[in-house]
Formats: sequence, C-alpha cells, structure tokens
Amino acid sequence: MSEYCMYIDGEWCAAGSGQTYDAINPALGEPFGKMPKGDRDDARRAIGAANAASLSWRKTPLWERSAMCMRIAEILDSRREELADILCTELGKPRHQEAKFEANEASVPWRIAAEQAKYFEGHTKPCQDPQKRVLTFWQPRGVVAVITPWNFPAAICGEYLPFAIVMGNTVCWTPAPTAAATAIKIMQCIHEAGLPKGVINLVIGPGQEVGDELVINSGTHAVGMTGSPQTARIITARAGLKPRLFELGGNGPVIILADAEPLKIAASVASACFFAAGQVCSSAERIFVADEIAEPFVAAMVAETEKWKGGDPWNKSTTMGPQNNMAVVEKVGRHIEDAVAKGATILVGGNRLNRPGFFWQPTVLTNFTADALVNREESFGPVAPIRSFRREEEVWEHINACPLGLVSSVFTQDVDKAWRWAEQLDTGITVVNDWTHFWEHHLPFGGMSRNDSGLGRIGGRHTLEFMSNLKTIVFNIGSPTSF
Ligand code: NAD
Repeated sequence: MSEYCMYIDGEWCAAGSGQTYDAINPALGEPFGKMPKGDRDDARRAIGAANAASLSWRKTPLWERSAMCMRIAEILDSRREELADILCTELGKPRHQEAKFEANEASVPWRIAAEQAKYFEGHTKPCQDPQKRVLTFWQPRGVVAVITPWNFPAAICGEYLPFAIVMGNTVCWTPAPTAAATAIKIMQCIHEAGLPKGVINLVIGPGQEVGDELVINSGTHAVGMTGSPQTARIITARAGLKPRLFELGGNGPVIILADAEPLKIAASVASACFFAAGQVCSSAERIFVADEIAEPFVAAMVAETEKWKGGDPWNKSTTMGPQNNMAVVEKVGRHIEDAVAKGATILVGGNRLNRPGFFWQPTVLTNFTADALVNREESFGPVAPIRSFRREEEVWEHINACPLGLVSSVFTQDVDKAWRWAEQLDTGITVVNDWTHFWEHHLPFGGMSRNDSGLGRIGGRHTLEFMSNLKTIVFNIGSPTSF
C-alpha cells in the first residue's frame, strides 16, 4: 500500500491531523493506498502559502510564467506512462486506451495557456473627452480556488491551473478524493519543473470541508469548479461575491434525422455513450432517431454496443472501465430500473458485470419516456437510451423536461435543418455530424446560462479572462477636471 502526501508551500506533507483514508481501486473494489485526509486547517495553511507567494509571482514577468508552463508540459509528456498507470489503478481506466489517451492529453492545456497568455492583449479605447487616453489590460485576481472532479483528473486540472498561474495568480487546488493519486502525480511534475513554493498548493480531503474552506475563506479571490450542479449550488450559496466559473453536468441529447446514414453513424454514437463508461459531462445520454431509420439504427447500435468490453483495465482487449464509486453504480441502476418501470425495454446489458469492482454492462434501452430519470437527469453511466420520433415536437417535449444543457449533436445531411436545430437546442455546444465529445482546449466550452450545466466558459482565452481582472487606466493630458 502506497502512502501519499499533499503539497503545501512547496513541501510534501501529511494532513495536520495525521488522519488518512483508503484510496480504492474501482476495478477491484480494494484499497491501493493511504491518502492524507486534510481538513479546514490544512486548507487554511494552503491559503496562507498562496497569499505569501502572490506578490512575487505576479511580479514574475509573463514570459517567465509562460516558460514555466511549457516546462511543466514537457515534464508531463515525459511522465505519460506513469500517468497512464496511475489513471488505470485509481480510476480503472483501460490502460492501453482511455488511460493512455488522457495521459497524452495532460500537457496540452499547459502549452495552450503558455502560448495564448502572450497574445492576450488589452485595448486602447477611444473616448468622448479629447483630453483623455484610455487603455485596458489584464491583471491577476490573486488566489484562485480550484476544485476538480474525478472523471478526468489529469485533463481537467489543466483547464484551470496553467491559465491561473500564467496570468500571475497563485492557486489552492483540491481534487475529488477518489482521484487524488492522479492529482499528486501531476503535482510531482509541477514541483519537478521548479515552480516557486506556494504558487500551486494541493490539499486533499473531503470537498465539504477542504473545498468549502477554499470557497468561504477571504484569502481566496475566485473559484473555478468542475463537478455536479448540486455542489455548484452549495458553492454559490457560500462564495459570497467571489467570481465563479462552473463546468457542470450534461444529459447530451443526440438527434438523428431521417436523412442520416444509420450504419455509418452508429459506432460514433455508441462511443459517445460508452467512452469512459459514460462518465463524461459530454456523454450522449439520450438518443432521438427519426422513425424512418429507427430500425436499422437500433440494430446497428446493438451490434456496436456488443463490441464494448468491460473487465480488467490492464488487459489490452478491455475497452470499458468501472464506474468510479458505489454511488455512481447505484445511480445507474436506479435510472435503468426507473426507465423500465415507465415502459422502456432493455435490448442489451441492464446488469452489473459479474466480476469484482464497480462495473456496469454497456446497456441499450428503447422507448424511454419524458418523465424517466434517464431523460431528466444525468445518468453518468454506460447507458444508451434510444427513442424514435415522428414529429420534432416529441423531441422537444423530452428535451425540455431536463434542466441540463451542455453538449448536443445532430446528424443530418441537410444544412438548413442542422443549422436550425443547432440554434434552437439549449446546449452550450452543438456538434453537427459527429460524437458529442469533440472539443479542443482553446475552444469555448460550457453550459447554457439558463440551465444547470454551468456558468461561464472554459477554454483558451475564455479561461484567461476568468483568471484576470480587467484594469482600465485613464491618462489625462489636459488640465485636471473641476466641476
Ligand atoms: P461533485 O460535485 O461531487 O464534486 C466535484 C468537486 O467538488 C470534488 O472535488 C468535491 O470534493 C468538491 N466538493 C464537494 N462538495 C463540496 C462543497 N460543499 N464545497 C466545495 N467543494 C465541494 O462531482 P464529481 O462527482 O466529482 O464529478 C462528476 C460531475 O462533474 C458530473 O456531474 C459531471 O458531469 C461533472 N463534470 C463536468 C465537466 C464539464 O466540463 N462540464 C467535466 C467533468 C465532469
């Protein structure tokens, strides 16, 4: 059993209380290590360290901060294999597919932040008064609290950390407790790059305590969180007037119109459902297919679903890992049961895998109803609920029953129809003719503001903006004003 440490003020340390918790391997349901169980005092120590480092870091030239992010990216690349190993052990991600994919991605946002910050220009502003010259530029906010989920622990921290530090902020970061070993591996790379002490601090412990302290403490000045809408609501109630960036859940609708080619798209739709065992905010979680092509599409989906294999994540033939924890396992079961009770039919799967760990079978359901939980909430599991439709209104009735709106996709060869659907769907992103998971780190990503999928946009210059105060400077070149 490995013993892990957190990282505060440039030092690896245990929790101040000396408490630990078991880190669980979800593919076996067994512990693989002891994690420090931090509390409010540890969070306060981190906040103190971040504030102490703040002045000197914000004065460090931008070009040097950018070079530091590049150095961290290089080290992350050199540690890809180790990262993939820990992603496999801690999350059960198939080592040769999903774990490798995420480990390869980990450095990408660090490079993007390093590049984009150099060209993140302010403006000069024309104004009515001929004696004034006005310009704007970006300054750091101060100390940013970063709170990350468990599903992509190497990739999602990169959506915040490099953008925060390249803009001159310092950070207190807390990861989901079930993904802390991956966070520690990332932190080791950051430490190895020589980041000055206190600039990024990693505090491990329960979100309700460590995360909450980072949110409420007056020593943090902005909060970036990826997680569930329920947690975002609590943070909103607790954060006072601090700026917040939230990346939350989804319930990705996929709309397949009658002119789409069912055999050509089924593999892509199935991948959008089952990649990462469905534990992605952008997963396809409900599929609406035009009646005219429903039969061949459903048959093709069943065939594609049978290709997804859960099992030992170290095995090369395994393509699907476990759910992260028992709460997710139970939620998936509840959603399937509820859909069936309300009239849906299971075509494939529908049970847990008969092996240790937290596995579900990839599952296809048809004929789910608007009031079913699979339609109204995020399932976060390997479930593909399909429903055929004759009239567009039927699809809207289902979509409108759900308060989430992150990513949708539409399959059609008709440009007019694609455009109309994309404009009308209340999701932050609509992908036309591809899976819901398309995204790159410089593109804006996030939910619609009137639903539960998030607040603000992450990605490239959008994250740089969140990590900054926009400063306006006014020069008077005439006589001082009197009134
Ligand atoms: P979660 O909301 O349970 O936890 C997220 C983080 O918040 C964790 O670090 C947790 O420790 C912390 N936390 C919990 N309670 C807190 C509190 N009271 N105060 C402060 N912090 C607290 O979410 P999760 O189960 O870790 O992640 C799954 C969710 O994340 C899903 O809904 C998924 O869709 C969403 N997600 C969204 C995106 C996106 O980009 N939109 C990406 C990945 C995951």
